[in-house]
Amino acid sequence: MATERTLSIIKPDATRRNLTGKINAKLEDAGLRIVAQKRIAMTKEQAEAFYEVHRERPFYGSLVDFMTSGPVVVQVLEGDNAVAKNREVMGATNPADADAGTIRAEFAESIEANSVHGSDSAENAAREVAFFFSDDEIVG
Ligand code: GDP
Repeated sequence: MATERTLSIIKPDATRRNLTGKINAKLEDAGLRIVAQKRIAMTKEQAEAFYEVHRERPFYGSLVDFMTSGPVVVQVLEGDNAVAKNREVMGATNPADADAGTIRAEFAESIEANSVHGSDSAENAAREVAFFFSDDEIVG
C-alpha cells in the first residue's frame, strides 16, 4: 500500500465541544499520523473557496456560515491508504448513516455539523493540503 497524505478538518461543532483530542485519538488509533496541524478561524473567503465545488448546492451558504462560526483545526494525516482510511474513520456524511465507532457516529450533531472533513480522493487531497499548508509546515 502506498503512503499517502490527506487533509482533515475538525469542524466548529467539535472544537466548540472541546473534542479535538478525542477525534485525534480516533485518527491515531486507526494508524494515521498527524504530520501537520493548526487551529485557525477560517475566513468567509477561505470557506467559500474551499467548498467552491458545492457552490450550486442549496446548503452552500449555510455550510460557509457554519465553517466560519468558530475555530477549526486543519491537519495533514499521513499513512498507508490515508485518504480511504480517514474516510472510513470519519463515517458517512449523515451521522444517522454512519457506522458505529466512527467519528461522525459518536460526535456529529447533524448532516451539516458533522465534526470532521476529509479529502475524498488523492487528487483533492493534494489540492486541499496545499490550500492550508506550505511544504515546510508538514513534518512527516
Ligand atoms: P463529506 O465529503 O462527507 O464531507 O460530504 P460532502 O462533500 O457531500 O459535503 C460537504 C459538507 O457539506 C458535509 O460534510 C456537510 O458539512 C455539508 N453537507 C452535506 N450535505 C448536506 C446537506 O444535505 N445539508 C446540509 N445542511 N449540509 C450538508
